[in-house]
Amino acid sequence: MIYYSTERKSKEVSFKEAILAGLAPDRGLYMPEEIPLINMNIIADMSFDELAFAVAKKLVDGEISDSDLKKITDDAFNFPVPVKNIHDNIYVLELYHGPTAAFKDFGARFMARVMSHFLGSKKLTILVATSGDTGSAVAKGFFGLPNINVIILYPSGKVSPLQEKQLTTLGHNITALEVDGTFDQCQHLVKEAFMDDEVKSWLELSSANSINIGRLYPQSFYYFHAYNQVKKLGTPIFCTPSGNFGNLTGGLIAKNMGMPVKKFIAATNANDTVPEYLETGVYRARPSVQTVSNAMDVGDPSNFARLKALYADNKSMSHDIIGYKITDAETMETIKSVNEKHHYLLDPHGAVGYKAITEYIAETGDTTTPFVLLETAHPAKFGEVIEKAIGTSPVIPENLQEYLLKEKKSIRMSTDYADFKAYLKSISK
Ligand SMILES: *Cc1c(COP(=O)(O)O)cnc(C)c1O
Repeated sequence: MIYYSTERKSKEVSFKEAILAGLAPDRGLYMPEEIPLINMNIIADMSFDELAFAVAKKLVDGEISDSDLKKITDDAFNFPVPVKNIHDNIYVLELYHGPTAAFKDFGARFMARVMSHFLGSKKLTILVATSGDTGSAVAKGFFGLPNINVIILYPSGKVSPLQEKQLTTLGHNITALEVDGTFDQCQHLVKEAFMDDEVKSWLELSSANSINIGRLYPQSFYYFHAYNQVKKLGTPIFCTPSGNFGNLTGGLIAKNMGMPVKKFIAATNANDTVPEYLETGVYRARPSVQTVSNAMDVGDPSNFARLKALYADNKSMSHDIIGYKITDAETMETIKSVNEKHHYLLDPHGAVGYKAITEYIAETGDTTTPFVLLETAHPAKFGEVIEKAIGTSPVIPENLQEYLLKEKKSIRMSTDYADFKAYLKSISK
């Protein structure tokens, strides 16, 4: 399969080249020239593991042998992916049963194994800007790989205490840089480094943000999985709590591969750049605003370039995707009311999605379609917010508890690119 850059100014590459590079030289994002169709009947009764392999095989298109790919998918997805009914026709796809209890485990674990497969004896430095969950999932995904160093940039004081522990306690090939700035500024530093030929002469760089096509693909697998569980009730509407829009793009890839879908709901917090675009046709990038669903605090989502690549114009995009902007007050109220009425504890990101579904139902009167809410993180990752909402703090699952006992190790960094560059030089020796 051939991959092009969304900027259309770099040469076309293979899957291997796209995944190892991350960002294209022209700063575009790689996309497959043609998204392959999959036979929905063949995958109809598959378990998640089988389905992951079958969909990955289509997308990888022969660049990894079947036996190696099977090892990669089996090893990457060694945790359950349940679909549960919250009430009536509202279902939740729980994407938080991986090692860092967030959906980013899917992308990070798959990408890490594929990269390691392709790298052989080459050495690679991965730069990741994170607003919270990306970093921990990526760190854990790459942890212990001998040929890959991971450098994580996170905004100081803007990730949850548990997230910070997850980023800063692994050690070995994982280094955490604590930046005195916002997530967008972290992202900017990373982008700057990728454009810097001098840095690239010191270090072989790659990215692991949701811009990497290797992270994106596995985020399509679970849409198929949820579809299979609810399809007897009708063609579903998926609701994806969104920040950088990688998760939603995963759904669009599934749709382009042939999965029937009635609509996608793109739920955002106050950072509503995309919902605004869907409504007005005008894309206004802006600085991110801090909210209680902090993993979605993104003012200029990278994957918007991919959304644009998949649609001819605003009209066709807004036919498939409807956006909702949810306030913090609504998020808190939703956590509380869903817990009280339906005994289901949502995390702040899932709550944004749930509220968007209720708004959609109120507007359309649609009470028959099955809705699938992507629950992107375990509520215990956001203990402080949950406690504020319901009065008690959630029980922390065992796989998260181990981090809390470990000691934080981070390197402080300003938002000045010269500082970051000096750091990269220091580690290249
Ligand atoms: C990253 C993240 C999101 C947003 O996903 P995108 O792919 O960036 O849109 C939502 N919820 C949680 C918990 C996340 O970690």
